[in-house]
Amino acid sequence: MQISTAPKLRTALHHFEDPASGLNARIALYGSLDHPALGGIRILPYETDEAADRDAERLAYGMARKAAALNLPYCGGKTVVRGDPEQIKSPDLWKALGHAINSLKGLYVGGEDVNMRLRDVTALSRHTRYVVGTLTGCGNPAPYTALGVFRAMKAAAMHRFGNTHLMGRRILLQGAGSVGRELASLLAAEEADLTVCDVNPRHAILLAERHGARIADPAEVMEISSDIFCPCALGPAITATNVEEIETKIIVGAANNQLADNALARTLHARDITYVPDYLANAGGLIAGAGEHRSQRDFLSFDRQAVTNDINRIFDLVAGYLKQAETMDMPPLDVCEEYVSRKLGEGDAVTPAEAGSSSSSAPRGPHGWSPL
Ligand code: NAD
Repeated sequence: MQISTAPKLRTALHHFEDPASGLNARIALYGSLDHPALGGIRILPYETDEAADRDAERLAYGMARKAAALNLPYCGGKTVVRGDPEQIKSPDLWKALGHAINSLKGLYVGGEDVNMRLRDVTALSRHTRYVVGTLTGCGNPAPYTALGVFRAMKAAAMHRFGNTHLMGRRILLQGAGSVGRELASLLAAEEADLTVCDVNPRHAILLAERHGARIADPAEVMEISSDIFCPCALGPAITATNVEEIETKIIVGAANNQLADNALARTLHARDITYVPDYLANAGGLIAGAGEHRSQRDFLSFDRQAVTNDINRIFDLVAGYLKQAETMDMPPLDVCEEYVSRKLGEGDAVTPAEAGSSSSSAPRGPHGWSPL
């Protein structure tokens, strides 16, 4: 296996190529690296190595922000494997990837992400102990992520509507995949008025059959008025083109990088739309992975109840940030970014081009809460 490393200020990108198994991977790390980096493994058919590199860096950067916002003792990390997920998965690939992860000696701990399933994590865990989301640990993170989004949504509802009830609230769910499906069950139990869209019609139909959700055309989703818009698909949901169009009061969902540009948070704020930063709302999976990592480290069983309790506290975390943002008349994302940037000690650090800007007013923390 050939290994080359190209560190940048605060970002390290480790490349791994193994022609025998077809592995073409990079592991991006972001932060001070005085703690392990925790982040999933993504498999996609990127057009170029450069595109895969940039995605890995951007995602590791996002993971660092999520961990910092939650006061979790982890740096940001992500593995990106370039290839067709339908073609490249094989025992040899997992072996080569396991060796790649081992070469970082615990600096990075992997897990599930796009196209990395529970059975893949299980196969990989035969070759490395630096992986979470295993059968004896938290398993599929999607239910944990969905629970966190649900709690974040309730906090935003409390902030915006004065109560946490979701009954009858018009909720527009974009993306009915692993997280979207779990979240829909929680919302249906609350008797929310659910509309769902998915580019895969079968996914949307399933939720219509299960919960009586209405189905919307994904191409027309921005034309639908809602109380809560819940992005749980891939890629940015809010762009410069649709930010002025969207008719909703709250945006809260599981998708990573929901805003095409962080500056759009200010447009949403000006339009009186409460945007819950994605890395707060979707932190349930990270909390579960961290709980599993901690149990591995301490030779204990995975404590599902303790992890669930920690995820429930996303309510307090989001409520704290929203209140602070209101007091300062700032978008919640800017308040978060202030805190996170300071916590990461970013200063003049070089960050990926996608990094958003932050305002210059004093940073405030999420009331010192830490789930671990
Ligand atoms: P998934 O692949 O299981 O589901 C995504 C769904 O979105 C699919 O059904 C897909 O058909 C649909 N979709 C894709 N593009 C769409 C579009 N333009 N409009 C409507 N639907 C579209 O993924 P997931 O695990 O459910 O994750 C959803 C999002 O949440 C992703 O952005 C992921 O990065 C993020 N996230 C997931 C977790 C987790 O625990 N799975 C944790 C944190 C963040």
